[in-house]
Amino acid sequence: MEFQLTKTQIEIQKAVRDFCKGEFDKDLALELERQHAFPTKIWQKAGEIGLIGVHFPEQYEGQGLGCMECILVVEELCRNDSTIGAAVALSGFASELLLHHGSEELKEKYLPQVAEARMLSAGAFTEPDHGSDLTYLNTTAARDGDHWVINGGKTFITNGGLAGFYIVLCQTDPDARPGYRGMSIFLVEGDRPGLTTQDVGHKMGIRMMATAEVTFKDVRVPATHLLGEENKGFYQVLNFFDESRVQVAAQALGTAQGAYDRALAYVKEREQFGRKIAQFQVTQHKLADMATKIELARLITYKAAWNFDQGRIDPKLTSMAKMYAARTAVEVCDEAIQMLGGYGYMTEYEVERFYRDAKITEIYEGTREIQKNTIAGSILGKTLKE
Ligand SMILES: Cc1cc2nc3c(=O)[nH]c(=O)nc-3n(C[C@H](O)[C@H](O)[C@H](O)COP(=O)(O)OP(=O)(O)OC[C@H]3O[C@@H](n4cnc5c(N)ncnc54)[C@H](O)[C@@H]3O)c2cc1C
Repeated sequence: MEFQLTKTQIEIQKAVRDFCKGEFDKDLALELERQHAFPTKIWQKAGEIGLIGVHFPEQYEGQGLGCMECILVVEELCRNDSTIGAAVALSGFASELLLHHGSEELKEKYLPQVAEARMLSAGAFTEPDHGSDLTYLNTTAARDGDHWVINGGKTFITNGGLAGFYIVLCQTDPDARPGYRGMSIFLVEGDRPGLTTQDVGHKMGIRMMATAEVTFKDVRVPATHLLGEENKGFYQVLNFFDESRVQVAAQALGTAQGAYDRALAYVKEREQFGRKIAQFQVTQHKLADMATKIELARLITYKAAWNFDQGRIDPKLTSMAKMYAARTAVEVCDEAIQMLGGYGYMTEYEVERFYRDAKITEIYEGTREIQKNTIAGSILGKTLKE
């Protein structure tokens, strides 16, 4: 057993740290979040130095590295700024589905644009009536000659309205029972006639990212935009979650670490009752609890990423990592606010923003309860059969 990062991985961490030091700015972050604006310049610079799509092969302008290197980038970005970090980390959301299932032509056309931060991508799975339960969908795709015609609507779509393309999960066989046996995924460009988006409105956190409803009205895509095999879309998305949930775990881990760093610095400076707050034993115990949880979240997140890179797909471990890291992020950020007292409640001190950003990691890509269902299902040998 080896718990040491490789030389390359340590260099990547340092490169991201240096990048954040040079590009991230607290006041800029506050302003971007206030305006609900995407951090375009930072995203572009991150793309220029190769921090996006590090797990894409080099032929698509990636770094040819793995999930492990990808999550080290995500962790470090979110540690430095939870909101900017999440926006950059999710800029290529669901592009892995294109990487794993797309034709060479589509991959060559779109993946370099994602990796070089010239294009955002989105994954459109959730519908107004189908959130946790994706086993049947109202969005349909019907074959019409050498095209597919998509109708329906998705909601809560990250990068919705800004994305160059959407990876859309559709019901292709409405008669399939159970419904998930008749789903397929499609790449749909954002400018296809009939595709419209509407912002979902004000949200608690991750405010630099757009979140939108996406409506499809007779949207036609060429047959070549079907990714992988027809009617296998549900399983493709489940496999994608094995990768993407580790990335969310890393987002949560970085957010927790970032809040902890700020709380630690504060309690070493702030004095009450003639002593540094860090000198109170209760504060020391809080730090001990926070650091322990973060360390555990890191161990399981790294293990899940490492496993993925070894080709050992283990949904139970992935769900454990996502669930544990997300809970850790919420709890650590909560405690960080408490340790800063009234200042912790103020926007300027950042930890309240980290707290608001942390919560989404317990909701998207499967809620905490859904992760528990996956873990329990795996323990009891209950999985959805093809
Ligand atoms: C900001 C934001 C960004 C998002 N980005 C995307 C995106 O890019 N793409 C995308 O496709 N989706 C996205 N989502 C959607 C997200 O994945 C869903 O919100 C999530 O899966 C839960 O679905 P729901 O909101 O419909 O809640 P519901 O499924 O209605 O769940 C409500 C509650 O019931 C619980 N519950 C449901 N079923 C069970 C069960 N079987 N056992 C126990 N408890 C259960 C849930 O855990 C939850 O607590 C995003 C959501 C948000 C808020």
